[in-house]
Amino acid sequence: MSILSPVLELLYPSLCVVCHRGVDSYNTLCDDCLRKLPRTEHQLLRGNKVEQLFDDINRPRKNWREPRFVRGGAWLQYDDNVATVIHAGKFFERPELAQYLGSQAAQEWIDTGFFDDIDLLVPVPIHPHRLRDRGYNQSEYICRGIAAVTHLPVDTTTILRVKDTPKQSQLTDSERQKNVEHAFHIPEPVIWHKKHILLVDDVITTGATIRNCIKEITPIRSCRISVFSLSVAR
Ligand SMILES: [Zn+2]
Repeated sequence: MSILSPVLELLYPSLCVVCHRGVDSYNTLCDDCLRKLPRTEHQLLRGNKVEQLFDDINRPRKNWREPRFVRGGAWLQYDDNVATVIHAGKFFERPELAQYLGSQAAQEWIDTGFFDDIDLLVPVPIHPHRLRDRGYNQSEYICRGIAAVTHLPVDTTTILRVKDTPKQSQLTDSERQKNVEHAFHIPEPVIWHKKHILLVDDVITTGATIRNCIKEITPIRSCRISVFSLSVAR
């Protein structure tokens, strides 16, 4: 929120990003469109689509005494309207939209225990080059929205994106996997010792990006991982 915002608000009244009707300035989606976004109800479904993507992570390994992957879920089913909303948050310099959606999701899920015993909210990092171009990491704003409801801390400094990768959306599944290999690095793993972290992203498609984050995290002793995404593709 800049000092110019009230002025801009007068010049450009807020419009719902889906239906373009006028909305309250703090909302960027009207109540109608928000209500109609397709919920997955993953918070109530163990073994949901997101958990299926990562369930192999808990197959027994020699030194693991406890499961590493705890739970996962996506708030929305990715469709045209969800794409419009996420795209607007990402590319039209409206990080407040991502924050708003994060807080909406958290309000709907908090009573189901999905955020219980999480220590840190961790946005999937973007490369410094992309951060410089876009000005912000959309997933960090999703985390801020979740944090506003759950009061959990957001950690944006422990895991780094060290490989500047082409956009995943233009690649095939196997190219996606290759694209994000060794893309992440954790310089000081001890920070996450004994922590339960919630990795947060905007869209999960094949899960390749999150999987490569998890690969970096699993060597950390007694670190447990859960995953939250705003949306998941079919
Ligand atoms: Zn609308």
